[in-house]
Amino acid sequence: MDEKIAQIIRGAGLRYTPGRAALLDVLMDALSPLTQEEISLRLRDIGLNRVTIYRALESFLEAGLVHRIDNGDRLWKFAYCGCGSRKHCHPHFVCRSCGKVECLVNIALPKIPNMRPGYCVEEREFYLRGLCDNCSPK
Ligand SMILES: [Zn+2]
Ligand SMILES: [Zn+2]
Repeated sequence: MDEKIAQIIRGAGLRYTPGRAALLDVLMDALSPLTQEEISLRLRDIGLNRVTIYRALESFLEAGLVHRIDNGDRLWKFAYCGCGSRKHCHPHFVCRSCGKVECLVNIALPKIPNMRPGYCVEEREFYLRGLCDNCSPK
């Protein structure tokens, strides 16, 4: 068992299971957010079924270990986030050509000044769309 992964899972208030550990490992290794399909493929060898993966993802989302990103075609992508916030803590870039989604972890979310009085913002997601470095004309 990977101690670090076990610590992260328990630190988020979740029970450690080998399935959750394998899922977190995949998400932490991923260079960009993954769809559930991509996650399933990577976990096929250890025999985790879709329902187990779905439930583990749900518990990670609730615990704030993972956030999900709408890549524009109604497909959720999931990414590990170590910031501990249950909300989106960074903007996301979506490439309209190859569909790549990237967490822009080094860019702060813009502040929203002059919010209407009496309004309480509970969620904010910030998407930048365009062409990634592979797809933009050189
Ligand atoms: Zn692209
Ligand atoms: Zn992200």
